[in-house]
Amino acid sequence: MALLTKSTFLKGHQCHKYIYLDKYYKKEKDPLSDEQRKKYEGGHLVGAMAQKLFAGGIDVSNISRSRDVLVQETQKLIEQGNIILYEATFEYNNVLVMADIILKEGDEWKIFEIKSSQKISDTNRIDAALQYYVMKGSGLPIKEFHLSCLNYPRVGVIEMKMEEVPTDLFQFENVTLFCEEQLDITEDKIKSLKTTLALPSIPNIATGEHCDYPYTCEFKGFCNKSQEEINEGLFS
Ligand code: SF4
Repeated sequence: MALLTKSTFLKGHQCHKYIYLDKYYKKEKDPLSDEQRKKYEGGHLVGAMAQKLFAGGIDVSNISRSRDVLVQETQKLIEQGNIILYEATFEYNNVLVMADIILKEGDEWKIFEIKSSQKISDTNRIDAALQYYVMKGSGLPIKEFHLSCLNYPRVGVIEMKMEEVPTDLFQFENVTLFCEEQLDITEDKIKSLKTTLALPSIPNIATGEHCDYPYTCEFKGFCNKSQEEINEGLFS
């Protein structure tokens, strides 16, 4: 079973206390706001639109709920000669990632990570670098890694009908070179996050600007409690 995922890696990149709480104190998470819920739903819709534009692939995530099985099935589908996979799943160095779309060209693969924003952020590039590290480490020959974001305002995209998805829905950024250059840095970050997860108690990190950047941390309520309130909650 993988120790880290794309999502937990990014939480740890934001704050080591965030990844620790997410791993061991999930029940202390703040409730999801309506805005966050809408964001997740919008993300799923945009993902489905991307699959329509890269039509004819197999969605690996439909095969099983077990991540170990998904990793094995991805390898099988690749060996069987499939050329488009959605949510292809890879594990390397105890990190598990699922790639939105992978497309075979010759003997190599092009990876497309789909974002439902109109701009690619530095966090998206760090996310891409992690996926590249894991896929390359697990033996996938990668030709290019592309980040994709919307060409149209998100509000308008959410109202689009599936039959009317425009072919220019996405703009692409080739981040292959960046990902390659980040390989050692990514490995160091993974090592550091594993060290944090092995700590015997919650790391002592104060709240600050990092609690809202790049995302609003799900443990702000917990971290803003007094030590007395925390102790009562944890040991009640
Ligand atoms: S609220 Fe801030 S300090 Fe607490 S875990 Fe989240 S990011 Fe870290």
